[in-house]
Amino acid sequence: MSQSEDNLASTASLTNHDRKLIHLPGSIQPHGVLLTLNSQLHIVQVSNNTQEILGKSISELLNKPLTSLLDNQQVAAIRQCWTKKPSVYTSYKVAINTNNLEQYFDCIAHRTEETLILELEPTQSSSELSFLSFHALVSEAIADIQKTSNLSDFLHLVTSQVKEITAFDRVIIYQFDHTGAGSVVAEAKREDLPPYLGLHYPATDIPQQARNLYKRGMLRFVPNLTAPAVKLVPIDNPITQQPLDLSLSVLRSVDTCCMEYYQNMGVSAILVIALIQDQQLWGLISCHHQTPKPLSYEMRQICAFLGRIVSSELTHKVNELELDYQVKLKSLQSEFIESISQADNFIDALIKPEIRLLDVVSASGAAVCLDNEITLVGTTPEIEQVRAVIEWADTQIKDNLFSTNSLPQLYPESVAFKDTASGLLLLRISQVRRYYILWFRPEVIQTVNWAGNPHQAFQVTEVDGTVTLSPRKSFAKWQETVRLTSLPWKECELDSAIALRNAIVGIVLSKADELAKINRELERSNRQLASFAYAASHDLKEPLRGIYNYSTILLEDYAQVLDDEGIECLQTVVNLSVRMETLINALLRLAQLGQAQLRKQATNLNELLTELIDILRASRPDSHLFDIRIPRPLPTIDCDAVLVNEIFSNLITNAFKYNDKTDQWVEIGYLDSHLVNPVFYVRDNGIGIPQHHRETIFRLFKRLHSQEKYGGGVGAGLAIVKKIVELHNGRIWVESTPGMGSTFYLTLE
Ligand code: ADP
Repeated sequence: MSQSEDNLASTASLTNHDRKLIHLPGSIQPHGVLLTLNSQLHIVQVSNNTQEILGKSISELLNKPLTSLLDNQQVAAIRQCWTKKPSVYTSYKVAINTNNLEQYFDCIAHRTEETLILELEPTQSSSELSFLSFHALVSEAIADIQKTSNLSDFLHLVTSQVKEITAFDRVIIYQFDHTGAGSVVAEAKREDLPPYLGLHYPATDIPQQARNLYKRGMLRFVPNLTAPAVKLVPIDNPITQQPLDLSLSVLRSVDTCCMEYYQNMGVSAILVIALIQDQQLWGLISCHHQTPKPLSYEMRQICAFLGRIVSSELTHKVNELELDYQVKLKSLQSEFIESISQADNFIDALIKPEIRLLDVVSASGAAVCLDNEITLVGTTPEIEQVRAVIEWADTQIKDNLFSTNSLPQLYPESVAFKDTASGLLLLRISQVRRYYILWFRPEVIQTVNWAGNPHQAFQVTEVDGTVTLSPRKSFAKWQETVRLTSLPWKECELDSAIALRNAIVGIVLSKADELAKINRELERSNRQLASFAYAASHDLKEPLRGIYNYSTILLEDYAQVLDDEGIECLQTVVNLSVRMETLINALLRLAQLGQAQLRKQATNLNELLTELIDILRASRPDSHLFDIRIPRPLPTIDCDAVLVNEIFSNLITNAFKYNDKTDQWVEIGYLDSHLVNPVFYVRDNGIGIPQHHRETIFRLFKRLHSQEKYGGGVGAGLAIVKKIVELHNGRIWVESTPGMGSTFYLTLE
């Protein structure tokens, strides 16, 4: 934090803690009289100006019934206030005989828990503003106001209307930001006055206490800031023995600091109307006049009424540009959701097209992080910097989201990449999987026009232990250059990010559910298929054996009654049934494997292969040709030894089978680079496999040659090998140069 910000912060805490409690000033403004009544309507407290305003001394009023001031009818009406809720105002026109002259007053009554507070302001008119005059004053204003759809036009129109009604020199609308600081967003003023439009004011200018009062009271009127305040007599409320709570008093006196603040601005009278949206203080309509300015209670009521209309319209009148922007974000969101829900891989859907991922929150860079894999899009920091940002930001996340438009201030290491990421929006998709999306915005150096130096908004002086605050003397435009910040993230952009997260989570979750269901189905039907295949092939073998046996008997015992063609036909039947048995056996084997449970054990592959090669050699008459090379000892691995034996048996047999060289050899080994999970290979110098068949050869009953060629076969060996490899969660593939040889690679996990 810089030195000047330090000052600002300490001033802020001082203004909030060391200011007097402004709702308990014990005094009122002098243009009216305040009377405090008990439940019997006896006057228990008065302001010390009754003589000047009512022509009655304090002693003539204090501890006297209200009837000593007002007639019975008026008193009866006021008694009704006790039936109302605290904080509800009731106003009456009353006539009081002051110094033998009938004087009219606006009598504004409201109650607290214990007392009734009456405030009397002298007025010229004897009657309430008629409905028709009220209507005439406001209806035109409201009609115009309602015609505007654009927020900025709307606010400007409101300032002009209020200026016309009140005839104040300047009317501004002041909007608070989320930090409590504010800026002037609309203004209507006397032509010769300097503009305040666009000026910023620090949060300390309107302390929390004052904001709370605005929220409760809606309207604040001070016709003459310099007029000395009038004390209450007695100073404490005799009913509660506490200072009287003047939070809702229309005459409440002005805090000295506030008074000085306005005087330093050259203002003598103020009227402030609170603008409330969703129970929050959205802003203020603030009216300034350079000289003292009376304004009747009715006129103020009209202004308060307009304030209410503005407050309710605020919700509906959104800036058109803002609205267009929100519509654009919404359409991007639905586009996203659609493509994510259709994509197999949601990451692809996220980053293709890249621009969409950036536009969905108007960022200039983004990073998608899936566990340890980070994909960068647009203008971003380096991958390692992004990784570090995630580590840090993960500790700051609330509700799966973290955003800042001044990352360097929170995370100083990011100064190094402020040009790409002064603004950060981080979205956590999944905690378990460490899935994040990050968006970045570059530094935007901004100039802010302040109304006076905000770092010296107040001066703190301490004399004999008493702290006094005095506001800045100058409100002349003071420019500040703000660095290390990006454009702020808007509420609708944060919403857009959250909507994206919900869509991803929803779609991924429902896909996972769907997948689990499909897997269960698949498993079930696989099991069914395997047992069907097993049963079918098993049952087929019996009649087949019969066909074979009877055909052989016919051939052996009845050859003499058959002609050559008949014998040939029968021989074909025998051959076909032999072939069919081989096919059925292959099917049976595959079906068995489909239901097989692996019996894994530590298996020394050297021993396994030595045994296997011995058997192969013994079973082949041309075994002297078997040149099997194992360049270095093979590792011991955890596997189903019987099944792995079947793999090597098939591969080695094929290696010699599909070999037309005179010096045939096979090499069995494993690759160096994968010691943890070795990649084994079986290499030969055989006929090789054309490129386009390198996948198909693993299909059941797929042969590349005619039946008799290369020693025959049904095309099931490699399908069985593949099945066994997959049962071990491994992979098998082949590389080959036709005419030179092939290498089968496989892993077994
Ligand atoms: P089969 O040997 O019964 O035909 P396989 O499933 O073992 O069935 O092999 C499928 C096909 O793959 C073979 O027909 C052959 O064309 C080809 N093949 C298998 N191994 C090799 C090899 N080592 N070299 C060249 N071709 C091979």
